[in-house]
Order: sequence, then structure tokens, then C-alpha cells
Amino acid sequence: MELHELTIHELHQKLKKREVSSVEATKAVLARIEQVEPHVNAFITVTTDEALKSAEEADKRIAAGEIDTLTGIPVALKDIFLTRGIRTTCGSRILENFVAPYDATSWARLKEHGAVLVGKLNQDEFAMGSSCESSAFGVTRNPWNLECTPGGSSGGSAAAIAARQATATLGTDTGGSIRQPASHCGCVGLKPTYGRVSRYGVIAYASSLDQVGPVTRDVTDCAVLLGAVAGYDPLDSTSVNLPVPDYTKSLVSDVKGVKVGLPKEYYIAGLDPDVKAVMESAIATYSKLGAEFVEISLPHTDYAVATYYLVATAEASSNLARYDGVRFGHRSSAAKSLIEMFAKSRAEGFGPEVKRRIMLGTYALSSGYYDAYYLKAQKVRTLIMQDFLTAFENVDVILTPVAPTPAFRIGEKVNDPLQMYLSDIFTIPVNLAGTCGISVPAGFSTGGLPIGLQLIGRPFGEETILRAAYAFEQATEWHRQKAKI
Ligand code: GLN
Repeated sequence: MELHELTIHELHQKLKKREVSSVEATKAVLARIEQVEPHVNAFITVTTDEALKSAEEADKRIAAGEIDTLTGIPVALKDIFLTRGIRTTCGSRILENFVAPYDATSWARLKEHGAVLVGKLNQDEFAMGSSCESSAFGVTRNPWNLECTPGGSSGGSAAAIAARQATATLGTDTGGSIRQPASHCGCVGLKPTYGRVSRYGVIAYASSLDQVGPVTRDVTDCAVLLGAVAGYDPLDSTSVNLPVPDYTKSLVSDVKGVKVGLPKEYYIAGLDPDVKAVMESAIATYSKLGAEFVEISLPHTDYAVATYYLVATAEASSNLARYDGVRFGHRSSAAKSLIEMFAKSRAEGFGPEVKRRIMLGTYALSSGYYDAYYLKAQKVRTLIMQDFLTAFENVDVILTPVAPTPAFRIGEKVNDPLQMYLSDIFTIPVNLAGTCGISVPAGFSTGGLPIGLQLIGRPFGEETILRAAYAFEQATEWHRQKAKI
């Protein structure tokens, strides 16, 4: 197998035995980027020089006998993670030339392990979207079918894994942005429990929902990467001070007696027939492996999308107030007064989806409407959270589809925001409840597009979903299929 095709754990073995160097692996990945990037457009910035420099440093560490699983591994980050000295755009014109003076904690942690950054990945602008079409840097194409979107907002993170342009990537998930693109591109993507991974240095979209997580080729890589970024950070007051387990210990291929909940609200008429068929075959696989199934109810599921679009937009309208042309980012040169400068900088810098959300959120928070919208949404959010806690009294994990359809075509939903918002119907409740979920490759559509399954766990139950995901992966061959690009 070629070097750019290896997983973290495979490449690690070769680095450890000195069969290859990090410089060789990094060069192979950079060459692959050059080869497929004209078709995929997964990257906003490729960091060739920095990558080769850090690969050399990693090789020195390895020569000195200092190696752990991530040393010398070529990784890429969604362009929402601040990287000192390397621009961070968040997919927006307003930050087109923004270079952060410090690193996001999750990136700083990977760096400490000696990981090598090969570039910053495309995404929907400010992580608002499900298709990468709202990026100011062009759409990313799905490596399985270049006419389709890779999903979003971490579409670049998933496409880069599918096209083998990085060994592993990080994304963020506010309403499904790791799991949905992972499903659409045939990758593993995990959204950790709120508070499990530091959000410090991650550009904020909706602060009570945003979480950092891995997008990888398989479940083993996912466990490795999660372990490296998880844990308390004094710089993020919402990060939780709980010990980080060794997630690789969860890689046990055994689900005998595990109780799997099937929420009746998720297996609805109208589910795409290909997604339905994949879920049926996944249930059959788990049955054969000895899992037990229980029908459960998450009764407030119907309200999740509406609740999310009030909470997320309200928080976004407040978080995005900082882009005023004064402190950082684009400043309009056409303005004649201070107020005009604020207005023009924002009008020129933000794209249409971001503007729509700022307006929705500002409206939901305005006096007179606050109680009817924002406060009501917070109350419904509590009910959704309780739905999950009640369900977890009887089951260990919940098995659902990730998205109602396989990857859709570029342009198909972009003019119908409501249709786009509905593509997150199965992922949003997990963010509202603050718990964890993973997307694992589970089959293909009749048109040859990958389809993932979602396993939802209890708060801080990452070990359980990783174990259930690993058992499924070991019993199937889906994760070994690769896009022909
Ligand atoms: N698609 C959802 C949105 O547009 C979720 C995005 C995300 O998780 N960042 O808000």
C-alpha cells in the first residue's frame, strides 16, 4: 500500500520500525494533495514548508527513541482551528487574511505529540451548513462522486480522508458537522460529549453546542486521536475535569449482551430506501454479534431542528458580533463613518447564509420575542436532554441513521435552506442533549455513495460507542472500500 493510504496505526508501525520516515510519509501525502486537489478542493491552505519542517523534527524525535502513536503523522485541520502563524479563515471572506497569534488547545496537543500539519481544510462559512457550499473558498467535492457534496460543515475534513489527502483530520460538530460528512464520505467521525474536548482557540459558532472531534479512516484511529485531544483545559471553562480513559482499550470486538436502543422516531416512513436498507443490514449484523435490541422512544425528536435553529442562531448572532472591522478581519474601505464601517465590513465580509443566521438569531433574542423563541427553545432543549437520559436507563447505546439520505448533489438544496436544515434531523438532538455520537461506515447506496450508521452514547460514554463501533467495523468490510479518485 502507498504511504498516503495508511491509517495512523499502520503508519505508526512503519515509523517505529524505521521502515519509513515522517518526511517520506509527509511527502507522499503532499504529492497526493497536489494530485487530487484540483478535483476535490478539500483544502483552503496547504502548509507544505511547515509540514516538511515539522516532519524533520518528528524524525529527530523518532531517532532519539521518543515516539508515540501520533509522532510524525500527517494531519489536517478544519479551518476553524486557530494555528499560530498560519492563516485561519473559517471559510469566510471576513477572515480571509487572518493569522492567529496562538494555537487552539486541540492543535497544541497534537503538536506536542509530534503530529505534522499538512493544511487547513475547507468548511461551510463559520461552520453554518451541511454541504460545504457556503464556503467563500469554493465547494468541496465528494471523492466518491464529484457531482455530490461531501456534506458539512466539516466537508473538507471528511473529503480529505476519503481522497487520502491526510492520514487523519479534526473537525467540529455543532449540529452534525462531523458525523454527517463522515457518513457521506465513508469515514469514521466522532462528536464527543460537550466538555470532553477543549474549545479554546476554535472559532465559536454556537458555544453551548460546539465540540471538537476526529474524522478518521477507521475506529482505531478515532480512538487514538480522541485520546490525544480530550481532557481538561483551564483555558476553556466548559471543559470538564474528568480523567481521560485510554480509548484504545475500548477496541474490543464484543457486543454480546449490549443493549441497543432503536428510537421509533428515527425509523420513519420517508427515510431514503438506501439508508433504510443499510440500517436493516446493520441491525442484522449486530444481532449476529449478540447485541440485544430494545425499541425506545425519544418523544421530543420532532422539535429538535426548530429548537436548534433558535439556540444556534441566537448564540451565533452574539458570537459573530466581534467581526466589526475594528479588531480583526476584513475592514471596508468604502465607509465614511464608524457606523458605516461596521455595517459595510460585515456586509462585504459575510456570505448570505451567515447573514440569514445572524438575522434569525438577533430576532429570537430581541426583547418582546425572547420569551416566545429563545427561552422556549431552552426549555424544549431540556426536554430533549431528558428524553436521552430516560432512554439510557434501559439501553447502553442508541443506533440510528446519521442522515436521512446519502450525499446529495451540488446545488440540490442550496436554494432551499429548510431542506438543508432538515438534513441534520438525526444528528442535532445529540448536540442539544450534550452527549456523544459516532458515525461508522455501514454500506453504500445503489448509486455507490457511502452511508454511515450512528451510535449515540451516554454523556462521557465514548468508550461504549467506540467499542460498539469497533465490533461492527471488525465484522464488516465497509471501512476498507475506497473512493476511485
Ligand atoms: N448543518 C448544521 C448547521 O448548519 C450543523 C453545522 C455544524 O454542526 N457546525 O448549523
